[in-house]
Amino acid sequence: LRPKNPLEMDRNLLRSIRNRIQGANRILVVTHVGPDGDAIGSLLSMGWLLRAQDKERLLFCQDPVPEGYYFLPGSDEIKQEAEGPFDLIISLDCSGHYRMGEEVSKLVAALPGSVPLINIDHHITNTHFGTLNWVDPNAVATTQMILELAESLNWELTPPVATCLLNGLITDTRSFRTANVDSRTIRAALHLMEAGASLSDVTQQALERRSLASVLLWGQAIERLRLDDGILWTEVTQAMRQQVGLGGNDFSGLANSLSGIREADIVAVFTELENGTIDVGLRAAPGLDVAQAALRLGGGGHPQAAGCTLDGDLVGVQERVLSELRRSLAEQRDKAP
Ligand code: 5GP
Ligand code: MN
Repeated sequence: LRPKNPLEMDRNLLRSIRNRIQGANRILVVTHVGPDGDAIGSLLSMGWLLRAQDKERLLFCQDPVPEGYYFLPGSDEIKQEAEGPFDLIISLDCSGHYRMGEEVSKLVAALPGSVPLINIDHHITNTHFGTLNWVDPNAVATTQMILELAESLNWELTPPVATCLLNGLITDTRSFRTANVDSRTIRAALHLMEAGASLSDVTQQALERRSLASVLLWGQAIERLRLDDGILWTEVTQAMRQQVGLGGNDFSGLANSLSGIREADIVAVFTELENGTIDVGLRAAPGLDVAQAALRLGGGGHPQAAGCTLDGDLVGVQERVLSELRRSLAEQRDKAP
């Protein structure tokens, strides 16, 4: 039996995306604030692919690249400032317009006329905010979609492209451990290894290496864990950061690690950002869903991993989110067989 063609992309959509890219002179490529491995991998791989097509492009992310991804080829090319003109925007791994950040909204508002936007994303809660929207919730990572785009357009997979693409697959699946991993994922990874990406190198760099300060911060957050009727939650404040000497907003992985705790149906990590807003990372145990609760709170995500960003003081935000989570959990428990 030959495996089913993994390309779930509609031919017309593919043609439209290709035509828009071919017709563009200067492309703004954007990923979400607080970038993760799929965000950075998507941005960089798209950058390398467009470069090979001789396309002028600017890779933009409102927040700096987390140190853990400095090893990716081209990571120093990602800008936190951008100036027009652009005649095409490509957003990658953004479930809603807000995920690109305020800087992009300001930039777009300052451009003359309206600029077409290609929205490429794998979140089930995607709001289809683009001119063209390619949303595939069955893809484990946005980089899996970019791989399929490159394959169908016969764009060459060079080692740097393959490495950046594999980074997205590995980080969003936590090294092929999430429930959505299937033969299509493994086939994609195999293809990327054959194209020159190192599985062990990317796994080490993206998932294993971390700073001592970040582990000390984990320690503090773990001490503050609370469990309340199946909801396990904690916080990371700016004061805690100062105590361990970890600046910026860069911090990740805690919600994932906590999500394996047996007593927890839902995990919530509240992180105070530098700008005063609160980022909420949510995880659900298998069979439960946090994407819908995140959507109702103005965020989005996947059934098993979602989030939102809220204004307000930490305690107020926690009360709001926890009451939404309790409600959502009660509903889901009622429906369970
Ligand atoms: P986390 O940040 O907890 O690692 O990931 C949460 C998931 O929800 C990611 O897939 C992320 O893309 C999605 N998401 C959508 N909107 C938000 C948001 O405002 N904050 C966070 N943290 N995640 C969000
Ligand atoms: Mn992703």
